[in-house]
Amino acid sequence: MTQPTTLPQNDFIRDIIDEGLRTLTGKKGAHVATRFPPEPNGYIHIGHAKSVCLNFGIAAQYSGTCNLRLDDTDPLGESMEYVESIIRDVRWLGFDWQDRLFYASDYFEQIYSFAVELIKAGNAYVCSLNADEVRDHRGTFTEPGKDSPYRNHTVEENLDLFSRMRAGEFADGAHTLRAKIDMASANIVLRDPVIYRIKREPHYRTETKWVIYPMYDFAHCLSDALEGITHSICTLEFENNRPLYDWIVERLIKGNRPQQIEFARLNLSYTVLSKRRLIELVKNGFVQGWDDPRMPTVTGMRRRGYTPEAIRKFCAQIGVAKNDNLIDVSLLEHCVREDLNERAPRVMSVLRPLRVVIDNYPENQAEEFECANHPQNPAMGTRKIPFSRSLYIERDDFSENPPSKYNRLGPGREVRLRNAYIIKFESMVKDEKTGEVVELHCTYDPATRNGPPADGRKVQGVIHWVSAQHCIPAEVRLYDRLFSIEDPGSEAEDFTKYLNSGSLEILTSCYAELSLKNVEPGSKYQFERLGYFCVDEDSVADKPIFNRIVPLRDSWTKTVKN
Ligand code: ATP
Ligand code: MG
Repeated sequence: MTQPTTLPQNDFIRDIIDEGLRTLTGKKGAHVATRFPPEPNGYIHIGHAKSVCLNFGIAAQYSGTCNLRLDDTDPLGESMEYVESIIRDVRWLGFDWQDRLFYASDYFEQIYSFAVELIKAGNAYVCSLNADEVRDHRGTFTEPGKDSPYRNHTVEENLDLFSRMRAGEFADGAHTLRAKIDMASANIVLRDPVIYRIKREPHYRTETKWVIYPMYDFAHCLSDALEGITHSICTLEFENNRPLYDWIVERLIKGNRPQQIEFARLNLSYTVLSKRRLIELVKNGFVQGWDDPRMPTVTGMRRRGYTPEAIRKFCAQIGVAKNDNLIDVSLLEHCVREDLNERAPRVMSVLRPLRVVIDNYPENQAEEFECANHPQNPAMGTRKIPFSRSLYIERDDFSENPPSKYNRLGPGREVRLRNAYIIKFESMVKDEKTGEVVELHCTYDPATRNGPPADGRKVQGVIHWVSAQHCIPAEVRLYDRLFSIEDPGSEAEDFTKYLNSGSLEILTSCYAELSLKNVEPGSKYQFERLGYFCVDEDSVADKPIFNRIVPLRDSWTKTVKN
């Protein structure tokens, strides 16, 4: 199995598994089988990635198995596009389900038989209350519910009505099948929950074969049981549903039954992780699609340039907890930065160019500097960077009136060009109308090619540059957090009010060093002093597009714009 190697973890879920395995020692069935069960009604996001890493990680740690199951029992909003995206994304995250790709919709016939079995045992009945009446009968947290008038149908009546529900004799909502549990239960979930409903909605796989569909609570535990899942790991909102999960499998499954274990879902700051909200962002054009690099979706993060290794590391670091919390997105960014620091070759690009002419460098001359691709990793090799009389530097790296602690170029100053000579400011050219500085004239010190100046003088700092004749035009997209407040997901008001208007800045007149000609989409680089960048899939050969993955340091507080 080609599972990613992650160190074995310890947490309360593993403790439960260990405990279960101890009591099973020597008995048949002492294995671990988990599953990742997304509903194909949206693209998966970083929260799902946590669940993927957890389920596949546990399977790998215990030499067990993990299935990928499309939990497609609610036809509304499900589609093959989503299935395909989920398959691609889980695989990209680095996990392998071998031949265990399943669809809950493949179990519809079996789940139907289970329902019939429940009816026959007197454990389910067809109820003809409408949705409002069901709600009225349900009671509240403090008051018990009332029995449905249909609760005491005979088994024959129930079997007849249920088969006619399946046959399409009734309108949507006319009847439901309900588990006969306890209308007075302290747990509202157990007050005769609906387990089947009529819904004339074509299903993307079973098409119009079914007009009744099992509810999540009924289908999920049975799908787990049918696949021999031992540990059904889900998020905390299902805690109250666990007694129902157990009630159903105890009545219908002989032998080993799956055990449901809940953990806290991932909430991430400056992000929303509800599929409904992500769909809203896509459908209403607040972002450019599911793979918009600002989206917390796996496909968005891939396009942005996050690596699967960084995402897995983040998931391992946050661990699993029993209580809901909000994880700071800067932790994810930190993991991305750490991973890219090791793997991304260093290059130089200028995002907001200012022309510099080296007056004492001959007009038709050029030379090359051999530069390390990675300062700590010689195995990543070197490349040659051309130098000539005319260069570009970053506009920000020159100031006519340098503020204090400004370690860059200005009148009367010298700086080191990264990997090359020391240059000295001589004069500047301004636009006559605007007064803006449009060109600098400098001189270089030929004696500083291979080291510090012989006289020991100190220069102001080191800046990056490209040679004007030896660079390529590039577009750079600077991404920032999509929301300007920490917890947009918890806002009762319209969460789109909190979109960060500065979350995308497009710079179209950048220059990248020559070695970046014909780069492959998906390649990642560190632009020295600027951050990590990934070649976007929309790039064209002569003008690559670079997405900024993360700046070199956490600069959120300085860059937020509303
Ligand atoms: P829906 O509202 O459509 O159910 P969902 O986010 O729960 O949305 P599912 O497709 O049901 O989506 O989720 C698949 C699996 O991923 C489930 O086991 C779910 O518990 C888990 N999951 C979903 N969101 C998160 C999250 N934020 N953190 C951790 N796990 C999550
Ligand atoms: Mg769900």
